[in-house]
Amino acid sequence: MNAETNRPPALGFASDNIAGASPEVAQALVNHSTGQAGAYGSDELSLQVKLKLSEIFERDVEVLLVPTGTAANSLCLSAMTPPWGNIYCHPSSHINNDECGAPEFFSGAKLITIDGPSARLDVERLRDRSREKVGDVHTTQPACVSITQATEVGSLYNLDEIGAIGEVCKANALGYHMDGSRFANALVSLGCTPAQMTWKAGVDALSFGATKNGALAAEAIVLFNPALASELNIRRKRSGHLLSKMRFLSAQMDAYLSDDLWLRNARQANDAARRLASGLAGLKGVEVQGETEANILFCKLDSAIIQALLKAGFGFYHDRWGANIVRFVTSFATTSEDVDHLLKHVRQVVSTLHA
Ligand SMILES: *Cc1c(COP(=O)(O)O)cnc(C)c1O
Repeated sequence: MNAETNRPPALGFASDNIAGASPEVAQALVNHSTGQAGAYGSDELSLQVKLKLSEIFERDVEVLLVPTGTAANSLCLSAMTPPWGNIYCHPSSHINNDECGAPEFFSGAKLITIDGPSARLDVERLRDRSREKVGDVHTTQPACVSITQATEVGSLYNLDEIGAIGEVCKANALGYHMDGSRFANALVSLGCTPAQMTWKAGVDALSFGATKNGALAAEAIVLFNPALASELNIRRKRSGHLLSKMRFLSAQMDAYLSDDLWLRNARQANDAARRLASGLAGLKGVEVQGETEANILFCKLDSAIIQALLKAGFGFYHDRWGANIVRFVTSFATTSEDVDHLLKHVRQVVSTLHA
């Protein structure tokens, strides 16, 4: 039993969206479910969320709430490119692999992938690529860049790297978007301010994720370039993403941002991943891969360990990124007991295999 929660240890490490919602967020929905409130974002709470995010980012920001990360990314990008534009992104980015073409659908633009190690796009390659065939009527034209922080493999861009991409954007008049589905996990790991990780490094627009880190379904498009706001307002409605009872998205986001819940949740998720990484390190048949910078951990496990864990009911992705490569993702709801329970199983298999 789990001392804090009085439940058996959780077995799921497949992703952070298998967790539910923080009690504070769920309670906020109940609290705001009675009485009347203005529709379509004209309510008090929606205004409060905009003020809170402006405070967090240390400047006035425009905020548009949407229920999914795919909507946040695609709508944001569609306001940052003409249909003949190029959106530069990493080959492993969510916008390239996991959004069913929504960024292309909403923008009409072309995704161009720029490779680089650990799911981070390489700034030199970006610079070269974004200068090719500029003004050539036969070719789609440079429009914007999208990076993911934390990345899809849980790695981080440091502030210099975010800034260097910002310089390329500025020099070549490109829009700069950040997919922050795991923004909080990256932020607490780098130990910088939200402003430093975004607009101070040149970012124009951010998909600020909350769903994976404690909300039920709420993401904020945060605009540091207010010129994008009026078009995005129309695009959000036209795509069917303007909720009439917006208070329910705002209630989630407001609770998420209150009393540092978003930061506490991210620390919990990151700590769990680090605990898992250090527990796995040095075990026979286990090879932890790379640094565990946020809440995603990759490792190589002997097939016997993978099979034994699956048999015991643990959930995780494996053999997608290469033979015997396993991905563990922790969340705001992962406790140290959950991690220790997984580690206990791994150690048991290792000791029987190597007895
Ligand atoms: C989960 C995720 C999203 C959002 O996905 P939705 O399923 O549309 O909410 C966006 N970007 C990244 C990197 C993600 O991991």
